[in-house]
Amino acid sequence: MSSKTESDFQELLGIIRAACDLQAAAALLEWDQETYMPEAGTEARARQIATLQSTSHELFVRDRTGELLEGLKDEYEDSMSFRASIVRVAERDFDRARKLSPELVGEIAQTTTRAKVSWRHAYSENNFDRFAGDLERIVGLCIQKAEAVGYAGHPYDALLDEYEPGVTAAQVKKIFDDLRDSLVPIVRAIECAPQPRNAFLYYSYDADIQWDFGMEVLRDIGFDFQRGRQDVSAHPFSTSFSTSDVRLTTRIHERNLTSGLFSSLHEAGHGMYEQGIDPELEGTSLAQGTSLGMHESQSRLWENQIGRSRPFWAGYYRDLQRRFEQNLGSVSLEDFYRAINRVHASPVRVEADEVTYNLHIMLRFELEMLLVEEKVTVKELPELWRDRMEGYLGIRPESDTDGVLQDIHWALGAIGYFPTYTLGNLMSAQVFACAKSEIGNLDEQIESREFAPLREWLQANVHHWGRKLSADEIMEWMTKGEISAAPWLDYVRQKYGDIYGSLVPGS
Ligand code: ZN
Repeated sequence: MSSKTESDFQELLGIIRAACDLQAAAALLEWDQETYMPEAGTEARARQIATLQSTSHELFVRDRTGELLEGLKDEYEDSMSFRASIVRVAERDFDRARKLSPELVGEIAQTTTRAKVSWRHAYSENNFDRFAGDLERIVGLCIQKAEAVGYAGHPYDALLDEYEPGVTAAQVKKIFDDLRDSLVPIVRAIECAPQPRNAFLYYSYDADIQWDFGMEVLRDIGFDFQRGRQDVSAHPFSTSFSTSDVRLTTRIHERNLTSGLFSSLHEAGHGMYEQGIDPELEGTSLAQGTSLGMHESQSRLWENQIGRSRPFWAGYYRDLQRRFEQNLGSVSLEDFYRAINRVHASPVRVEADEVTYNLHIMLRFELEMLLVEEKVTVKELPELWRDRMEGYLGIRPESDTDGVLQDIHWALGAIGYFPTYTLGNLMSAQVFACAKSEIGNLDEQIESREFAPLREWLQANVHHWGRKLSADEIMEWMTKGEISAAPWLDYVRQKYGDIYGSLVPGS
């Protein structure tokens, strides 16, 4: 290899590192805004974050980056080497970024800034018309974005690709069709079965005791507090400024025993992904989760496959009971397990249980497709939403606030994002099934609070790679196939067939 090649590579790496450093600084400002910043700081903070992000973007999309990439792209034989991976991923990021004109990027930023405000008003006043105009503009801009980025099959592919590289609308549609056919009858059957009692979950539970219990669980599962921390915020999230500085937030409700714990487990699943990335990739664009769906598979795995499982509570319930003797003293482990897995159709996605959750996502995906294909207008959305919600979950939201207005995502311009939630749920079942077959007595380990073998397996097979491997490559290797609904449906049939009895079709 020539010394020119090496000096070009070092120059490229320098650009990437500087762009990533600015992004990390912006992420720290965002984290602070959600946790400790006094509210009066909002305006200045928004400007500071925008400055860092646009400086990072401009630094990366310069012509010089393109020249370096052009010269380096065929230089490395081993495609999995650090150098080849840096060049491959940077090329992808660069191509996508350069296809969007600064005018279009600016117009999207302006429109979404305005839309966030109009959405908030519309949401709190239950008045869709206040948001409809901005949403129409956002749909138009997303269509323009898709045209600029380009696609082989469907314009939605170009939007989805931003969040889930390589997955197409046709693939998502096929997966969702399989899911819908099996899931709707399961939900119907559960609705007819007797419900487990769960009122005790909503007694009063001291917030400090909940916090301490959650922290103990996070330490046990292996979230590394030498390289991360947990704080409180209104909406739980996770973020990282490096693989050695990963932040989680949670929210504790005194009158909801498990909401804080499950949020913590969810965010720790995201956080352990970031902490598990190969240190060699640190400070580069490879040191991130490979897709939003794969990230979500890790959070859902810890939240649902582990946190809502019988073995987990066989290991922890006595401890929880001891901390809340008065409320839980007479509640058996079995009653507790059934209560935390109660299925109850709600019009609101963020309140959905794991069985009905994917139907909420499917509804959003279908409407997004119709919008992008210009087959429906924004004005028709509220009614269409109510009709489809009734078809899937048998409930008709009473207001648009609990219907079409419930999520902020469209106001942020994030059309193409929702499917990653379901893809993550499905992948979590595929990954967990693979882990179970490779590790062996996983249930016994979970019951005895021994999480290291699972965490290390996830690290070696998913986390370690960062963006060196794509989500499809990981799934292909792990399952000898692609993302599929079948393992998740098996998991649901087995678990909920056991809880709700043989009413669940196929169980
Ligand atoms: Zn998540």
